[in-house]
Amino acid sequence: MSKGSAGYSSSSHKSSLKGSSKVYMWYCDNCSNGPYLVANNDYCPNCHHQRCSYCVVERAPSTRR
Ligand SMILES: [Zn+2]
Ligand SMILES: [Zn+2]
Repeated sequence: MSKGSAGYSSSSHKSSLKGSSKVYMWYCDNCSNGPYLVANNDYCPNCHHQRCSYCVVERAPSTRR
């Protein structure tokens, strides 16, 4: 006797979050170091300058397959 596998219609559970995987990089305007991840570094690891409006923020090119 085989165990009756439940005929579960697997609905594709896709999360339609737009722009969820955007990666932003920033360059310190104080010491011109970088790029740093915006999500990881609020402060410049090099000179401890806090990211401000003068710091250059760029969107990292998304790796699409
Ligand atoms: Zn810096
Ligand atoms: Zn700055």
